[in-house]
Order: sequence, then structure tokens, then C-alpha cells
Amino acid sequence: MSQPVFKINRRQSRQIMVGHVPVGGNAPIAVQSMTNTETTDVESTVRQIKALEAVGADIVRVSVPSMEAAEAFGRIKQQVSVPLISDIHFDYKIALRVAELGADCLRINPGNIGREDRVRAVVGSARDRNIPIRIGVNAGSLEKELQKKYGEPTPQALVESAKRHIDILDRLDFQNFKVSLKASDVFMTVLAYRELATQIEQPLHLGITEAGGMRSGSVKSAIGLGMLLAEGIGDTIRVSLAADPAEEIKVGFDILKSLHIRSKGINFIACPSCSRQNFDVISTVNALEARLEDILVPMDVAIIGCVVNGPGEAREADVGLAGGSPNLLYVNGKPDHKVENEQLVAELERVVRAEVDKRLQENANSTSSVSLRVTDGGVTVSPQQDQAVAIQKLTG
Ligand code: SF4
Repeated sequence: MSQPVFKINRRQSRQIMVGHVPVGGNAPIAVQSMTNTETTDVESTVRQIKALEAVGADIVRVSVPSMEAAEAFGRIKQQVSVPLISDIHFDYKIALRVAELGADCLRINPGNIGREDRVRAVVGSARDRNIPIRIGVNAGSLEKELQKKYGEPTPQALVESAKRHIDILDRLDFQNFKVSLKASDVFMTVLAYRELATQIEQPLHLGITEAGGMRSGSVKSAIGLGMLLAEGIGDTIRVSLAADPAEEIKVGFDILKSLHIRSKGINFIACPSCSRQNFDVISTVNALEARLEDILVPMDVAIIGCVVNGPGEAREADVGLAGGSPNLLYVNGKPDHKVENEQLVAELERVVRAEVDKRLQENANSTSSVSLRVTDGGVTVSPQQDQAVAIQKLTG
């Protein structure tokens, strides 16, 4: 594929570790989601976390509203490998317990914990275990004084709220944190993050809160997160959708792919189709998206209905199909073979999987740096690393 025409200059943030996943600095922008099962239902929650991991989640957040949920969190933690953020409101005892039980990050606002000794206890526990804290400011739950001062949620109010929590951590000399400033309004969110990005060095967790359902929420998130990410702001993202959490991960990666920030899985390039199409573009793309969902290796696949744009796009992709008489399949920029309409989906799947296997094999055999297009940093895969590790490295 051709090189991106726009270079994003990423804000340099201090790197923190959420379990084994680095967030900030030059680390790949981590994509996260949150479970929506009852945390006390350990089996369902573990199943959902594993499903999120299967579609590429780097980090998963689990809400822990009670001590019973905290104990369940401990059992969940033992059964999954993806880092888990424990989401806690107010109750410092829950924070202390999940820290003991292996939480990889605590989402708790220091200003909401209450008495100084309690704040010290939580921060001390996080420090002893090297667990970061995520400060999460939300326009819907601003402190009463700030609501009074600003009259309504504003970007300045969000930043001031975050600074209050940050000041508490500063006083305790605790720098191992990240911050989110979420509103459901795109501009309010963008302006708040822009401002805070100039004031602190910690990583920023981006999100548009209560964004909406699958379609409207994806659009809103793509615009808001896209604006910030294009400016180099943001170290981890969560797309909030009133939908299956797995969709949040998929949309998150689609946003990163669109900006050439991070590649994971197939990036489909498809024409909208029209009466010139030589095959049914829409059903072909839908069928392939479903069939190739398990692929994590980054690859561009173009599906174009006719010769107007077909050959040009197909040549630029790793695997491309240009509709025509006959339909022509391109591999790595070169015309490879003809395909009949009836075989299109099966043949495209076969060729893509063969290409994925070839690349994984090449990388497993390689003693030098990865030759694939990995847009989030120089990555080296040694021959000793197995394919699972190779995939992880390739996808950042
Ligand atoms: S590439 Fe061809 S089929 Fe696709 S929208 Fe354009 S003209 Fe129509």
C-alpha cells in the first residue's frame, strides 16, 4: 500500500503499564472496552472478556460495585490474561481489595474517595503494587461546586474537575496515572482533552461517553476521537456504544486503521457499488467481513465492482479484486488470476488466508525486523517467537 500522506505528531506522554500493556509514550494506542455482564456472574464475565480479547481488546474494564463483586473480580482475574481495569466509585475498601486481588489498574477518582487517610491507603496500595490509577471525569457527574461555578458542563469545568483529582495525586507524589475527560458532546470532549493535553504529561484515555447506539455512536466516536488522534492526542481509546462490547473494539480499531495509526486485521476497501458492478459488491464485502473476522494480521483487501476504479485500488491493496469481464484478482499489487462470480467469496477468503499464513511464516523465519507495514513503531520478531507472539507483534 502507498505511504500515508499525513503524518501525525503524537503528543509525548509519560508511559504507564496496565498489566503487561504499555500505555503512553511510543506505545501503540491501546483499544479497550468494558464488560456489561454482572461481575458477580464470573462465568459470563470471563466468557465476555475472552470474546473481547478474541477481537483484539488490549485492556478490559470491569465494574466492581460491591465487595461481592470484588471477590468475583479476583476469580475472574485468575481466568483471563488480558489486563483488567477495576472500575470503582467511592468505596475505598473495594479499591484496596481489588488491588490485592490483582487489578491491573484502578479506575477511581481520588476526590471521591473521601477522608485523607482513605485516599492515602488506596494510593499507597497502588504504589506498593505498581498499579496505575485512571482518573475518569464525566460531564454527567461533575462535582456540585463546579456545576454551580460553570452553570453547566463546559470543557473548562471538565479540566478543572480532572485537575482537582490530579492535585490530590500530586500531593501524594503519585504520577502513575492516566486521565479521561468524557462528555457526550463531541466538541466539549475535544476541547477539554486539547486543554488538558497541554497541562499534564500523563497518558490520556479518550472516549465520547454515552455516544449512542451502534451507528450514531460509532460516527460520534469516530469524529471526536478522530479529531484528537489526528492531532496526536490520546494513548488509549474506548468507543462507548449501546451495543455488544465486541463492537466497541472493532469500531476502535477501525478508527485507528482509518488514521493509519494502528493496523489489526483486515482493512477493507470497497466501492459503494452501482449499476456498473460486475458482481454484488455489498454481499461480497459483508460475507468476507464475517469470514475473516478472526484474522489479526494487518492487511488491505480491496473489493471494487468494476474497471472504473478496480485495477487502481486492487493494485494498491495486499489482495484486491477488480470486477470486470473477467473479474481479476490481484495479489501484492500484481494481477494474479481470474475468478468467476460464483467463486468470489470462497476464493478471496482462500487467497487472503494463504497470504496471512505466508506472512506469518516469513516473520517467524526472519532474523531481522518485520517487513510488514506496521504503523505503530519498529517491531522485531525473532525466529524463536511462535506465531501467536508474531501476530501480537505484527499488530502492535
Ligand atoms: S467502482 Fe465501478 S461499480 Fe464501484 S461504484 Fe464505481 S463505477 Fe460503480
